[in-house]
Amino acid sequence: MPLPTKQHEKPHTLSRTLKDTYRHKGMRRRLVQALRRRGITDERVLAAIGAIPRHCFLDSAFEEKAYEDIALPIACGQTISQPYTVAFQTQLLEVQPGHKVLEIGTGSGYQAAVLAAMGAEVYTIERHKALYRQAKKLIGQLGIKGIHFFHGDGYKGLPAHAPFDRILVTAGAPEIPRALLKQLKVGGIMVVPVGKTVQEMLRIKRLDDDTFKKETFGRFRFVPFVPGSEEAE
Ligand code: SAH
Repeated sequence: MPLPTKQHEKPHTLSRTLKDTYRHKGMRRRLVQALRRRGITDERVLAAIGAIPRHCFLDSAFEEKAYEDIALPIACGQTISQPYTVAFQTQLLEVQPGHKVLEIGTGSGYQAAVLAAMGAEVYTIERHKALYRQAKKLIGQLGIKGIHFFHGDGYKGLPAHAPFDRILVTAGAPEIPRALLKQLKVGGIMVVPVGKTVQEMLRIKRLDDDTFKKETFGRFRFVPFVPGSEEAE
């Protein structure tokens, strides 16, 4: 007879469903309508959000909430961004099929999946080993192609794979991460929320080797962009 395990002794196991039913699809269609009403106009972004099963990226405890326009908890004290924020950042990024996109903060892998659905070749970095492993495994199970996963410190970017057409930071940076600017192609775009407690959404275009144009797009709240990486599972 198995010994009863106490709650605190249980290993952290994720329970999730990989099934995408008509009911999920219906909830997703309503989410897309809500994003349209909130002002998201890029049809390619809306189609990608309509295609990716967000509930699969969450613990099944949150399945009913997966298509509400809210941020939700994932492992390691992090969050999957609110769908509106994902749509807004993706729209600002102006991704074209074939673009090489660097994402900082893999988290659940959902944003990376949205970028891949738009035809991007995605390079995504996560500082928490457990999140990196979970996201990589899930994307494999869902059969989504075109995403390369890295465990490490996003402040360093991926010099070996640079330059990138697009860079998307999905954690709140206290200041513009300089190393990442260097990894942007001339003509490329970086979208990054900058600020300590509340972040201002910035879009930075690299006009030539040392000229960058900065635009701002309102206030958001993200989990912090923390230097270094975590090995713990
Ligand atoms: N894009 C994610 C959102 C995750 S929240 C999704 O779609 O689910 C932001 C993520 O950034 C967190 O998982 C956090 O651990 C990660 N992060 C914070 N600082 C980082 C760093 N220096 N390098 C890499 N990832 C980082």
